[in-house]
Amino acid sequence: MRNLLLVFPVCLSLLVQGQTKQAYPQPAPMIHEMTEFWKPQPRIVQPGEAGAGAILSAPSDAIVLFDGTGLSLWEGAPDKQVLIQGKDMSMFKSSKGGDAKWDIKDGTLVVDKDAGDIQTKSTFGDFQLHIEWRIPEGIHGEGDIRGNSGIFLQGIYELQVLDSYHNETYVNGQASSIYKQTPPLVNAMRKPGKWNVFDIIYTAPTFKDDGTYRTKPLVTILHNGVLVQNNTIILGTTPYIGLPQVIPHGKGPIRLQAHGDKSEPISFRNIWIREL
Ligand code: MG
Repeated sequence: MRNLLLVFPVCLSLLVQGQTKQAYPQPAPMIHEMTEFWKPQPRIVQPGEAGAGAILSAPSDAIVLFDGTGLSLWEGAPDKQVLIQGKDMSMFKSSKGGDAKWDIKDGTLVVDKDAGDIQTKSTFGDFQLHIEWRIPEGIHGEGDIRGNSGIFLQGIYELQVLDSYHNETYVNGQASSIYKQTPPLVNAMRKPGKWNVFDIIYTAPTFKDDGTYRTKPLVTILHNGVLVQNNTIILGTTPYIGLPQVIPHGKGPIRLQAHGDKSEPISFRNIWIREL
């Protein structure tokens, strides 16, 4: 009888817990479609021509991150899971690191999808970044699995890189979008085989003591000389599944994405940055 008295409250507790779960059903887990929208598609704008082989060299006060000759300023990037959990940017660099293992071919930096993301060894706060990228001619795939890569501002906030030339996908995931947040104002994409140019002006966030934003990150972006993001407020992290999260951080690297799609790898060139 004494044992029964001891067991009864436990059973009652379990019963109550079970009833509580039934009374308050949990929402279904998020899936990626929940944060994607397809309309309206940004208007297509034909960008101006740069001329054959034209390339804008770095100004005198820029740090040249890649000029076609080597990857000494780059390293292998940590796993994304670590990045999402990290609260201090210094933690991001300790988990994996190693050399940046992407290939250099004909002076261009070719994504190696098996090697994973790469990032700059240096970290940055406010900056102006110039970076050029090319979708290979004859690329295969469709939607967001055709030439997918990305430029993570401060290692966290993804500016999408994708073949968005006559290739529709959810508009907050096409080229020049702040991924899963803000579509570009227009679609200024050049066709595969041509070089695309991003000029990015980024203002880093500041944080309150409780870890929320005091001021949110801001970004202005020219795609092939056409304004596509105009002082856009970044809401937080840019995950494939789920909502933006606010993670307190200091200066962060420029991180380039090795996306796991099966399409032919894209290339980067002429990457330079000016700290502001
Ligand atoms: Mg991407």
